[in-house]
Amino acid sequence: MEFRDLRKQYASMKMQIDQNIQKVLNDANFIMGSQVVELENALAEYVGVKHCITCANGTDALQLSLIAWNVGVMDAVFVPDFTFFSSGEVVAAVGATPIFVDVDKDTCNISIDSLQYMIEKVIAEGKLTPKVIISVDLFGQPAEYEAIRKLAEKYHMYILEDGAQGFGGRIGEARACSFGDVATTSFFPAKPLGCYGDGGAIFTNCDEWAEVIKSLRVHGKGESKYDNIRIGMNSRLDTIQASVLLAKLPIFEQKELIEVEKLAQYYNEKLSAYVKIPSVKEGYRSSWAQYTIQVENQNDRDELQQFLKDNGIPTAVYYQKPMHQQKAFEKYEYADENYQNTIHLSQTVLSLPFHPYMDMKDADKVIEKIVEYMER
Ligand SMILES: *Cc1c(COP(=O)(O)O)cnc(C)c1O
Repeated sequence: MEFRDLRKQYASMKMQIDQNIQKVLNDANFIMGSQVVELENALAEYVGVKHCITCANGTDALQLSLIAWNVGVMDAVFVPDFTFFSSGEVVAAVGATPIFVDVDKDTCNISIDSLQYMIEKVIAEGKLTPKVIISVDLFGQPAEYEAIRKLAEKYHMYILEDGAQGFGGRIGEARACSFGDVATTSFFPAKPLGCYGDGGAIFTNCDEWAEVIKSLRVHGKGESKYDNIRIGMNSRLDTIQASVLLAKLPIFEQKELIEVEKLAQYYNEKLSAYVKIPSVKEGYRSSWAQYTIQVENQNDRDELQQFLKDNGIPTAVYYQKPMHQQKAFEKYEYADENYQNTIHLSQTVLSLPFHPYMDMKDADKVIEKIVEYMER
């Protein structure tokens, strides 16, 4: 059994993908082929925003957005403490200060109370200017944008939606990557919409930011890539990856999101009596980047993980270590007391094998073994 079976995914859409890749090989338009713009138009329409700018990966997508906003030294950027390293890494990379924020213990997304508290704390200290909230759509569920938007307006901050895991999720009819002033996603193969290498994208309704980001991703280009008007990066999505994503996007929407929703409901129904199942807010739809359960304590989690492993069931712990405890951030000296939920989650979460092509027999085995462990 695989944690996320990408071979099965490929097998199910091999013809279209092979055809699309072969066309790129024949045309030899490896960089910025017409498929890149075609994909950007399709993604912008899917998400429901004016501009999509693809780039090399989800980390660059975040960093390009911060650079476009001139975020840097003396700026505070608020980031959930429970997320993948990139969400905070990019803040330090542009010279700004990441201010980690505790998360909600049910949704695992940024806690609105903690966010307000940390913003007030930064203002009271008087050293940094609160500039941006990086809201992460963790495990596939959009963050609480209505409340985040209120705080962003109150404190005159931008929202950068990190939709690396959230692509395909919704609040009502509105799709993930439409909630931030700028939003980003990742096409890393194991993300909800993955390509066959690295890839990422940025979404915004703002013409001016879109122009700047398009320039930044090609060495700060002006009229051409040999006319350089700002310091940028080399961060393009290559044509082969764009062609893979063009083949996958319709299947993602028409099949994969439906399959993962069904599987989540099945796991929910069978597991809710034994463990804490993922909590999706009313009116929200998750794209189920992960199916993450919670157990009582670290001992239970580690033992359950070992028990499943011994039975041939792969699992993962997202995330073992709160951001504020990462060595890379040690100079900022964050206090554990502000991150009680994240610390608890890092000890109690376990992500189960989960993907749109999962065999129901495998799902039943996962369930059976968890029940067996819990009833021991
Ligand atoms: C995967 C991920 C990223 C980074 O994406 P890459 O394409 O791997 O650079 C950023 N944020 C979150 C929350 C992620 O899960």
